[in-house]
Amino acid sequence: MENESKTRHAVVTGGSRGIGMAIVEALLKDGCDVWYLSRSEGETLAALTPLAQSLGKSLFWVACDMADRQGVETALDTVIKEAVTIDVLVNNAGITRDGLLMRMKDQAWDDVIAVNLTAAFLTCRKIGRLMAGQRSGSIINTSSVVGIMGNGGQTNYAASKAGLIGFSKSLARELSLRNIRVNVVAPGFIETAMTEVLSDNLKDTLKTQIPLGRIGSAGEIAEAVAFLASDRASYITGQVLAVDGGMAM
Ligand code: NAP
Repeated sequence: MENESKTRHAVVTGGSRGIGMAIVEALLKDGCDVWYLSRSEGETLAALTPLAQSLGKSLFWVACDMADRQGVETALDTVIKEAVTIDVLVNNAGITRDGLLMRMKDQAWDDVIAVNLTAAFLTCRKIGRLMAGQRSGSIINTSSVVGIMGNGGQTNYAASKAGLIGFSKSLARELSLRNIRVNVVAPGFIETAMTEVLSDNLKDTLKTQIPLGRIGSAGEIAEAVAFLASDRASYITGQVLAVDGGMAM
């Protein structure tokens, strides 16, 4: 079991906005020092540093393009040098490059797989080794309702998000005896920059497919992530927690 009376160290990819920023906030409030990795600093550092200070926690941004393998290695080396131990890893960085398969360019496939899936492989391998030595840790990978149900126009995205589920369940089995839990959060439609581009008409149609009848908030995903990261979820591993207003039930 993790000891939550001490400050935990958390790494969050894609923390510069949207769901990632909400996850950073939730983990700070839950007693973590947080390092977030993204290409841009976004508003997170400026907006959440006062909160971190008021809680006696630390918040750091490490510039990183998750599609750049060497860049990921270097960024994680920086974090590990500062943090020494890492208790929580959240793979949240993600992109879409939508289009019908018949017209999909190689680059649209490769970009999505690189950021959404290969980056999680890289971070889990490196931080998983560290956690294995510590004999403790919690990893949360961010999938999507689309990885469970599929969605026309998103074969690349669905492949990456479904891939994360199989990857996480396999890793959960590999790391369980080292006291490391690996779980997945699968958001439904959440109000962020990623969904801002959808037309109002499409949003209205989508709402009719959501049993709870509304689009979710980034904070609602962050609550689920913070729970799985914490000792409150100490007997949960290899699970996919859909936070989607009931879409995928
Ligand atoms: P968002 O607002 O577009 O934010 C994406 C985050 O990923 C940003 O912090 C971005 O930072 C980072 N990112 C993207 N490409 C990156 C790269 N190459 N290197 C490093 N960081 C990168 O998206 P969101 O809606 O918060 O989504 C967060 C996660 O939830 C994603 O994995 C997404 O697939 C998943 N999800 C979202 C929804 C939804 O409805 N919003 C639904 C299901 C699943 P920089 O641009 O600064 O690098």
